[in-house]
Amino acid sequence: MNEYQLKQAIVRVARRLDQKGILTSTDGNLSARLDDGGTLITPSGSCKGELEPEKIVRLFRDGTPRHGRPSSEIALHRMIYERRPDVRAIVHAHPPYATAYAVAGMALDQPILSEAILTLGRVPVASYAMPTAEELARSVEPLVAQHDAVLLRFHGAVCFARDIEQAGYLMETLEHVARIDFIRRSLGSNEVIPQHEVARLEDLRAAMRASR
Ligand SMILES: [Zn+2]
Repeated sequence: MNEYQLKQAIVRVARRLDQKGILTSTDGNLSARLDDGGTLITPSGSCKGELEPEKIVRLFRDGTPRHGRPSSEIALHRMIYERRPDVRAIVHAHPPYATAYAVAGMALDQPILSEAILTLGRVPVASYAMPTAEELARSVEPLVAQHDAVLLRFHGAVCFARDIEQAGYLMETLEHVARIDFIRRSLGSNEVIPQHEVARLEDLRAAMRASR
């Protein structure tokens, strides 16, 4: 995929997430890695539902922009790319159900959906940090090696994957799981998948991650 095609893919995923109510107003940001070590990232303060490929900011390997003003969450994105060489794309958003769990300080770590254990794994909550600052990156850093999605306390969520489509799907799955968990709690259910079945699913997830 060349640079322009990757910009088009970012725009496509951003519009999809905007239409689903996962990105609201000018919230959130998306980025993807280029083969030369550079990064494409959504511009600061932009409505993600109205993006055009030409508006996507290109960063050089050292993080300086070729043009435009990159998202203010650039430190978070750079930290994740440094810690996870397998990650090629990142989506940060404030979807309502997942963000409510982040506000409540409740991890999405109950084994309630077999397929979510495979795709999403357990989703922890990072300690509170000021948005748009280096400290946000530091709060997420200890969780990045073992997880592909993290809730940001009193803020939102970040998901990362091997490409921008997968990162977008992961954010959709995260919001879907948060919504189902909320409904299951409102039904008064404490049902979870039995531990021995969770172990089988987690073994399969580990094998899938290792083969990437
Ligand atoms: Zn944010």
